[in-house]
Amino acid sequence: MSDQYPLHLIVKKPNFYGFSGLDRSAHIREEEGWLDRLMAAPETRIVPVWRSRSLITDDGAGDPCAGMLVAMDHRALIEQAEFVVFLGEKAGVSHIGLDLSSLDEAQVHDIFADHGIFTDLRQIGPVLERFEGSILAYARGLMYWHQRHRFCGVCGAPSIALKGGHQRNCTNETCRAPSFPRTDPAVIMLVHDGDRALLGRQQVWKPGMYSTLAGFVEPGETLEEAVAREVWEETNVQVEDVRYHSSQPWPFPASIMLGFHAKARTTAINRNDNEIEDAQWFTIEELRDFEAIGNTLPRPDSIARRLIEDWIAEVR
Ligand SMILES: [Zn+2]
Repeated sequence: MSDQYPLHLIVKKPNFYGFSGLDRSAHIREEEGWLDRLMAAPETRIVPVWRSRSLITDDGAGDPCAGMLVAMDHRALIEQAEFVVFLGEKAGVSHIGLDLSSLDEAQVHDIFADHGIFTDLRQIGPVLERFEGSILAYARGLMYWHQRHRFCGVCGAPSIALKGGHQRNCTNETCRAPSFPRTDPAVIMLVHDGDRALLGRQQVWKPGMYSTLAGFVEPGETLEEAVAREVWEETNVQVEDVRYHSSQPWPFPASIMLGFHAKARTTAINRNDNEIEDAQWFTIEELRDFEAIGNTLPRPDSIARRLIEDWIAEVR
């Protein structure tokens, strides 16, 4: 695979945290001794994760960037890591993720004081370079899965990591059930009616912030049905012409967001439940100058923001 992989799949500009250009090189996961081999290569970098936080440092020009360590210089960290995963390679550089959550704060300070500060990626993601944001999100999501799958879901025995940290198997001889990293599908949709869009807000959001409706896909449901159901449950609005827009990995903690545009078939809003605090139709003019009416759009790294901005551009 080339370094461009899988950029040929993109028909629109990519969303944040996706299409990093990282080659996941799945064949390496199968290799006996992959860790020793990669740790001995001078180019290999370590991507540390501590309690779901990512190492962030300064790029020398005052901007934040991902803190990645030269693997050869930090071999001892392997012994301290709870989970070790092979992430992939880019331009000949292999990336290994280490979960160091078992270290206490003092140990983290001693080891990483010169390498950066562990930070919640959600706080810093929008200003990171795209590749760095993507690989940090990937590492964080994989570690979250390991942290929560130490035991077999079938029999309860401890499980062990295999295949470069991309599989866990039950250690009970009579069970041996495998489990794989999971990502939970969620649909997120901009519902439009001519020059108006339907946005809602949750009580926990900062005052004035409105965003597209969203919700998890349920077993036995198509994505289109999930879009229609969520909009109906939250606002009583019926939709048609559900069209896929794009997707975004959102490992905060474990989702993939599947973005849609949908046309309203009915427009009267009637909130059925307490999932959202408010829902309103906003015109394009209002959305273009949203702050003038005391509101804010969702964060710039979110697919919600992208769905809104692309719709405005298309309708204009
Ligand atoms: Zn088991």
